[in-house]
Amino acid sequence: MSTTEADYIIVGGGLTGCTLAARLHQRNPSLIIIIIEAGRDASDNPNASSPLGSFALTGSDLDWAYPSLPDATTNNRVHINNAGKALGGGSTINYAGWSRGNAADYDAWGAVVDDSRWSYAGLLPFFKKSETYFDKKANPEQHGFEGPIHIISTSASDPDRQYGLRKPLLKAWTDIGVKFNPDPVGSTEGISEYLENWRDGQRQPAQKAYGIEGITVITNTRVNRIIFSKGKEERPEASGVQLDDGRLIKAHKEVILSAGTFGTPQILLLSGIGSASALSALGIPVVHDAPEVGQNLFDHFAHFQLWKVRHPEESLAMGNPSWNKPAYFKGMPCDWVVNERVPSNVLEGAEESTQGSDSSLLKAGRCHIESTVIYAPAGIPGIPMDGTYIASSIMLLLPTSRGAVTLASALPSDLPLITSNYYSTKSDVACLIYGTRRMLQVMLETSPGKEYIEGEVAPPGQAELSPSSLDEEIEKRIRATGMSHKHAAGTAAMGKVVGSDLKVVGVGGLRVVDGSVLPVPIGGHPQATLYALAEQAAEIILNKA
Ligand SMILES: Cc1cc2nc3c(=O)[nH]c(=O)nc-3n(C[C@H](O)[C@H](O)[C@H](O)COP(=O)(O)OP(=O)(O)OC[C@H]3O[C@@H](n4cnc5c(N)ncnc54)[C@H](O)[C@@H]3O)c2cc1C
Repeated sequence: MSTTEADYIIVGGGLTGCTLAARLHQRNPSLIIIIIEAGRDASDNPNASSPLGSFALTGSDLDWAYPSLPDATTNNRVHINNAGKALGGGSTINYAGWSRGNAADYDAWGAVVDDSRWSYAGLLPFFKKSETYFDKKANPEQHGFEGPIHIISTSASDPDRQYGLRKPLLKAWTDIGVKFNPDPVGSTEGISEYLENWRDGQRQPAQKAYGIEGITVITNTRVNRIIFSKGKEERPEASGVQLDDGRLIKAHKEVILSAGTFGTPQILLLSGIGSASALSALGIPVVHDAPEVGQNLFDHFAHFQLWKVRHPEESLAMGNPSWNKPAYFKGMPCDWVVNERVPSNVLEGAEESTQGSDSSLLKAGRCHIESTVIYAPAGIPGIPMDGTYIASSIMLLLPTSRGAVTLASALPSDLPLITSNYYSTKSDVACLIYGTRRMLQVMLETSPGKEYIEGEVAPPGQAELSPSSLDEEIEKRIRATGMSHKHAAGTAAMGKVVGSDLKVVGVGGLRVVDGSVLPVPIGGHPQATLYALAEQAAEIILNKA
């Protein structure tokens, strides 16, 4: 077969696209697989291989940087949705933080789609298959030791990677009642070591970790739309794709969309799968009326704060001259991740539509906020990296606010319109205020906090926050400065747009395998979940489910 036809066409050579392609090929090398990726192969870019270089990649040519519409619920700010535009997608530009959600989060997913393959037990073999976990004494029922993605903790990465705030922070969190959790799988609650998938300080993009030799990869090429022909009983059947230069590529078996949370709904809509009335208004012929395409957008919205340290001479923050040891370049300057459950009395009355259901926030075994302290003013523009500033993040693990992705026009070259609608529900407001109070307590009221932290540095025009700040003051700050953790998902939701076999409802020969299929938020950084999703997708596709 030539490059104008294939058994499987994978649209988007990102994290899931490359993983899926590799696994399909490994299981059946006779399959002809083509990946079509809009971005370039960035293996020549030194910033794309190193932990600290990754900060230079957001806003670069490797980032789609999809702008949102002015967001009414966050002071009409425009949020930039970073997303990898390169072979490897997000796995080429992300920060490599690694975590699973709670088992209860996946069980909610499995229940929503009535398919236990997406419960924690259903996904566990694929979590294990994807990882090589650093601690060989870890529980083999939970961890894998032979997978393509190597996982390491801060302290295990290099004996010289020692941060001055490691012990004080552990004490501060445990002083306010947080328990040490040595292995945050199944239950993530507590304080645990920060895990990453840098391998000896080098990035492991999906295409490199899994290997895509034997697969045809077309880079720098955008897919405009899916081509349909009439199948059995007149059902539209995906038979190929049209590229931005007008070329057509034919699929003998399936077209698989892995273009990410913004790219996948855009392609579906441009191809006539979406709200019939909205498509008709843009002059796009309707193939299947699917109003849920592009809806259900969610992200881990977060509150970042900046802190000034008291003893900069003790080498507590990045920018101090002593931070030039190679060990400090092996990962992000961070030791701990803290996952907490917001008390029921704070959530009750704030919880919306999910109350009583399987995805209820109140269900046992769920955590609502993740707190981290980064020993650098990461993500806060205009602050010097001079060894005196650190940053904290409080992230909503299970947001109930939902946004949407729609089309700006029928032109594939126009970026889609993004309605973020962050922080628009009572439970999101309650959870982030609670999380901010916990961080204020750690930094300003514990004995290690008092010893090491001079105070919060308020953003320009904002009042400093303290434990005595009113809820309204904290909420006002969050609306003015909160931003996403770059974990957008949900816009081709399983159970609505795709079935639990990942097939697009209403047409044949078309599946979606990427972050857009998550029907509900998962309380962990998405990579681990998405590698497991792609691993399971390969099994489902080859077993012809
Ligand atoms: C800056 C940043 C930091 C992050 N940090 C972390 C982290 O520390 N930990 C973590 O777990 N997660 C992190 N993430 C999130 C994680 O990387 C993503 O959730 C993940 O990459 C999504 O995988 P995906 O396969 O769904 O999409 P992607 O990996 O984004 O892949 C989609 C691919 O499709 C391509 N594409 C889009 N449209 C088209 C089209 N029309 N034609 C052809 N190709 C197209 C894109 O160029 C892209 O390569 C981060 C993300 C970013 C952007």
